[in-house]
Amino acid sequence: MKMESPIKRRKSRQIYIGKVAVGGDAPISVQSMTNTNTCDVEATVAQIRRLEAACADIVRVSVPSMEAAEAFRQIRAQVNVPLVADIHFDHKIALKVAEYGVDCLRINPGNIGREDRVRAVIDAAKDKNIPIRIGVNAGSLEKDLQRKYGEPTPEALVESAMRHIDILDRLDFQDYKLSVKASDVFMAVAAYRLIASQIEQPLHLGITEAGGLRGGTVKSSVGLGMLLMDGIGDTIRISLAADPVEEVKVGYEILKSLKLRSKGINFIACPSCSRQNFDVIGTMNELESRLEDVTTPLDVAVIGCIVNGPGEAKEADIGLTGGTPNNLVYVNGQKDHKVQNPELVDHLENLIREKIALKEQQDKDLIARA
Ligand code: SF4
Repeated sequence: MKMESPIKRRKSRQIYIGKVAVGGDAPISVQSMTNTNTCDVEATVAQIRRLEAACADIVRVSVPSMEAAEAFRQIRAQVNVPLVADIHFDHKIALKVAEYGVDCLRINPGNIGREDRVRAVIDAAKDKNIPIRIGVNAGSLEKDLQRKYGEPTPEALVESAMRHIDILDRLDFQDYKLSVKASDVFMAVAAYRLIASQIEQPLHLGITEAGGLRGGTVKSSVGLGMLLMDGIGDTIRISLAADPVEEVKVGYEILKSLKLRSKGINFIACPSCSRQNFDVIGTMNELESRLEDVTTPLDVAVIGCIVNGPGEAKEADIGLTGGTPNNLVYVNGQKDHKVQNPELVDHLENLIREKIALKEQQDKDLIARA
C-alpha cells in the first residue's frame, strides 16, 4: 500500500515570481542561486542554463554593484527562468534592475535607509508588479537586536522580520515573501514556526550556510522536513557549499520524499548485501546518471534479491528483483520477464524510457480530451 502525503499546507497569500506562483495552492518551488561573478555574463548565463536544465523554478543572482546591474540586464535577456536580484542596501541598484526586468527583489526595506529611497523602491515594485523577498539571517541581525537578545534567537529573527514588514505595511505593499534563516536547525525551525502564525505571506525556507554537499543536505533535510511536515513553506532553497545544481537536486529530493512534488524517477533501491544477485550499487549509479534528464515521475524499484524484491517491485511502475540465474522484471506491479546481469543496465534504461514515453503520450491524450 502506498501512503498519501498527510501534509496540510498553511494557507498563504499567493504571489508571482515572473510566471511562477509562490504560495496559495501553488506547488512548492525550488530555487537556487548563482555563484559566478555576475559581471561575467557568459559564465552566469551558462550556470543559469544548467540550473534551468535541472528544473530550478527560480534563480537568484547577486547584484552587488551598478556594473553588475548592467550585466544583469544582459543576463535577463538570455534566460527564461524567473530571476531574483539579491541586493543589499543600495536602492539605486534595485531601481535599475526593476527597470531591466527583474522578477523579484531580494532586499530588506529596513536596510535601504532614508524613507524617500524606500518609497522609490516600493513605488517601482508596485508599478512593475515586482514582489519583494525579505531575507532575515541570524548572521546579519541588527546590532540593537543583538544587544537586546544577547545572541541570535528565534524571537530576535522574528522581531527583525517584523521591522521590515512594518515598513511594507506602512507603504501598503503586501506582495512579499519572507525568510528567517539560521544555520542552526532548531533556531531556524522555531523562527519559521513563530512567523508562520503571524503573517499570511508565503515563506521561503532554508537552513542558511548549511555546509557541504553531504552535511548540508542532511541538515537541510532535517530542518526543512520538520517545517514542511507542519505545512510551512512555499518555496525552498538548499544552501550548499557545492555546485548550485546540487541544491536543486536536493530540493526536489526533499519534496519528493514528502510527496509534495514529483519529478523524475523515484528510485527505491536496497543498500545491497551478500544476498545480492547483481551489483545493486553499480546498477543504481549508472541508472541515476543515465536518467538524469527524465522529469516525468516514475517509481522504479531496484532490489538485489527476493527478500524484499517482490514486495517493492509490486508497488513500483517498473521493478527489478535479483535472482539466479535470471533477474525478474516487474511492469506495473506484475511479473513480466527475465533479464541476465550483463544486459541489466541497458535493458532497464530502455524499459524506463519506453514507459516514460508512453506515460507522456497518455498525459498528452488526456489533456487533448479535456
Ligand atoms: S533486498 Fe536482498 S540484497 Fe538487498 S539488502 Fe535486502 S537482503 Fe540484501
